[in-house]
Amino acid sequence: MDTHSFAKKKIGVESGEPALTPPPADTAQTSFAKKPKLASGKSKKRDIPEGLWTKCPTCEAMIFDKELDENSKVCPKCQHHFPIGSRERIHSLVETCTFEEMDAGMTSVDVLRFKGVATYKSKLEGYQKTTTLKDAVVTGLCKIGPHRTALGVMDFSFLGGSMGSVVGEKLTRLIERATEKELPVIIISSSGGARMYEGMFSLMQMAKTSAALAYHAQQRLPYISVLTHPTTAGVMASYATLGDLILAEPGAMIGFAGPRVIKDTTQAELPPGFQTAEFLLDHGLIDAIVPRKEMKARFIGYLDFLTVGKKAAVNS
Ligand SMILES: [Zn+2]
Repeated sequence: MDTHSFAKKKIGVESGEPALTPPPADTAQTSFAKKPKLASGKSKKRDIPEGLWTKCPTCEAMIFDKELDENSKVCPKCQHHFPIGSRERIHSLVETCTFEEMDAGMTSVDVLRFKGVATYKSKLEGYQKTTTLKDAVVTGLCKIGPHRTALGVMDFSFLGGSMGSVVGEKLTRLIERATEKELPVIIISSSGGARMYEGMFSLMQMAKTSAALAYHAQQRLPYISVLTHPTTAGVMASYATLGDLILAEPGAMIGFAGPRVIKDTTQAELPPGFQTAEFLLDHGLIDAIVPRKEMKARFIGYLDFLTVGKKAAVNS
């Protein structure tokens, strides 16, 4: 496997060289000056991917980025699921122009005036700039197939998808709106857990979102939770595992604490792959593993089934 990837890298460099070398210099000196530049470690790395190719961490194939985007960020060779942004995911799931975003401008406040290596305030500003998101979740009402649905999608690229006050509040408002309008809720999670920078305020979101879901369930409305890579800690221990149906993407890492912490606490040998979607499906936590490209069709199927009673009640 290694030799393959090495061979590919070399091809990439060689194919890059002619493009840079064509204007041949008159003197030998200038061509000498150019070669060391190409050979330097940093420029080599930049020459190969250049934002055009991505190496699959599972099968090590080099995938053309455009091909990866067109395939919903799934490796066409081995079906490895790459992370996908919240907006791209929403685009792949909802009917065109039906997404009405809620609380789009809501941003976190640095209540604790947290200072670590960097301040929380500067972190927030940095991530808002690089991701063009306000926080780690996008919520709104939309249509998926014929079903009007309340949809929340987390984004791991914003501070590791951590759940602070904004994530908790936006999801709670989404769930409450769904309860009021008698709509199903779908939340797609991807999170490292509660946001440390907000301390206690982050932890309170676990109870808040769970309570909102309990009221939603009392109205006999369906909630589908989707766990994507990775869904861990506070999110996993609250709304992510409260679904009437719990789905996961293939190969997603799902767990509460890291394996080392569990091993030290329980003093037991852990089975291999115990924090993967596949293992948790075998052990009954997850109802189904659904590949990303089939997700929309499966949502429609599940919602058809879960809303039968509701439609019958309306028509009678
Ligand atoms: Zn692959």
